[in-house]
Amino acid sequence: MPTPDSTGVQGSRLDDAAAKDLLRDYAATLGGWFWETDAELRYTYFSPSVFDITGVTAEWHYGKTREDIGIPDSMAPEAWQAHLECLRRREPFSDFVFQRRAPDGVRWMRTSGIPVFGGCGQFQGYRGTASVITAEVEAQRRNDSLINAIENFSEMFALWGPNDRLVVCNQRFREINAKFASGCQPGVLFEEHIRMAMAVGMYPDAAGREEDWIQRRLLRHRAPGAPFEMQRQDGRWILLTEQRLPDGSTTTISTDITERKRAERALAAQNDILQAALTTIPDGVQVLDNDLNLVAWNERLFEVAELDKDAILGAGDPGKALRHALTERGEFGSVDVPATTEVEDAASHAPTPSQQEQQLTNGKWIERRVRPIASGGSLTVYRDIDESKRLYERLEFLATTDALTEVANRRSFLDRAEAEFDRAKRYGRNISILMIDVDHFKAVNDSHGHAIGDDALRRVAAVCSAALRDSDVLGRVGGEEFGALLPEAGAETAHLVAERLRASVAGQTIETKTGSLNVTISVGVTTASEARGDLEAIIAEADEALYRAKQDGRNRVVHFAGSDMGIR
Ligand code: GH3
Ligand code: MG
Ligand code: MG
Repeated sequence: MPTPDSTGVQGSRLDDAAAKDLLRDYAATLGGWFWETDAELRYTYFSPSVFDITGVTAEWHYGKTREDIGIPDSMAPEAWQAHLECLRRREPFSDFVFQRRAPDGVRWMRTSGIPVFGGCGQFQGYRGTASVITAEVEAQRRNDSLINAIENFSEMFALWGPNDRLVVCNQRFREINAKFASGCQPGVLFEEHIRMAMAVGMYPDAAGREEDWIQRRLLRHRAPGAPFEMQRQDGRWILLTEQRLPDGSTTTISTDITERKRAERALAAQNDILQAALTTIPDGVQVLDNDLNLVAWNERLFEVAELDKDAILGAGDPGKALRHALTERGEFGSVDVPATTEVEDAASHAPTPSQQEQQLTNGKWIERRVRPIASGGSLTVYRDIDESKRLYERLEFLATTDALTEVANRRSFLDRAEAEFDRAKRYGRNISILMIDVDHFKAVNDSHGHAIGDDALRRVAAVCSAALRDSDVLGRVGGEEFGALLPEAGAETAHLVAERLRASVAGQTIETKTGSLNVTISVGVTTASEARGDLEAIIAEADEALYRAKQDGRNRVVHFAGSDMGIR
């Protein structure tokens, strides 16, 4: 066993000069230098290589102590004090790490030294080496910042070595596995970790099939595939991503996706409600996105719009197929598919709220409501209004038509007369009115009965109606009394029309069970030039003229005294 010699270099049989040479060479191979101090710790020697590394000559150091040169900035005060203590006790030291500014940047150095004692044991100084450890320090720092980054990662992170033992994990990983801290110690086997987690009940969905679950988990860990979701004991959802690294290590990154899962579930629930609503409502619904893709619909859409569902949904672009089918059928007025499609597509792209009743080419009435959607696209609701439309039309007919004669009833006649009169007034046009009364009608009833009387009234109405133009308005304004409004008609025309009516009725022979029957009418006429006055007044005038016609012997036409024709 070698013993320390006078130089303090263990096991050396070399003399002092040879030992120095050796240390100098050793320091040089490490990219550093060799140094020596006297008993007062003043530097007495530096290898010339110190100049190459630091740009400061060896001689500059001579006579200076370490304190004279300066305490390294990178060194904590306590570490410096500990170093001084070590020197005072004349002990060897190593790992004195410091920074040194060099011409090409900062170098990290490590110095080691040993005390040198003379033949009688008296302290003679220190000698030692300094070597460059920049690469080492930088590697350590990189490592530290990597660990730091992993530690502060918001996801849970663990790295399992090629032997499947835990190398490093982070704070979040330790937190989530806090119930079994020993399972998060470096060195623990992945399988041990899983079994410990299982033992504290971390995997509620494994209940009753624990071993099977563990085996599956191990299999997945050994051959990681796509990320998978897992629910933890505390109800939180985790997305686990495992990856095999080239050296056989495995990383596990777990992301807390509880919020996302909740949002997904809420969305799914909303979707269910929407689906239920869509299938329940009696309307057809069509939702187009910004690119006119059909993104939502219900069965009723195809029923209400009378479209072939399978053909449309089976098409490459159902939205387009739907619009084409409607266009081809002529629902947009023109069957020129390209032109109409362009117009309709443009309208769908910039939808404005609209609501319109539309009669399909097969006669069916539908209502089409379009609403833009805030996020882009449009919602169209098709409603089958055929029945209600027909019901409304029937009601309207009943409300405005006289049941016996099927000409306008009194209310409707007056409404339409009012509208026509206003219009004539607006445009300064002539308008004439005829008041018609069946002569001696009481006698008809008396001799033929009420039913025959009704037939006669129907016949009078039909004859008058046939003798008038479409733009004229005929109405039953009383029991056996009718009114006719003739827009655009001056006194002369009105007279001709009235005379035609009178002659037509008089010329009719009504065959009845009780023999043939003839009725006549008396007509009072008035004309409002440029629609002066008001409707009520000219009706009163026509009534007055009618009264005169009766007085003058019936079956005749009489003009109101003040009217333009001046005919009596
Ligand atoms: P005039 O030539 O003066 O008008 O004689 P008129 O008999 O026609 O006049 P009057 O006003 O005295 O009688 C009208 C008759 O019309 C009385 C009424 O029974 C009859 N009448 C009114 N409405 C109806 C109806 O709906 N059906 C039938 N069959 N008769 C009706
Ligand atoms: Mg009458
Ligand atoms: Mg009468």
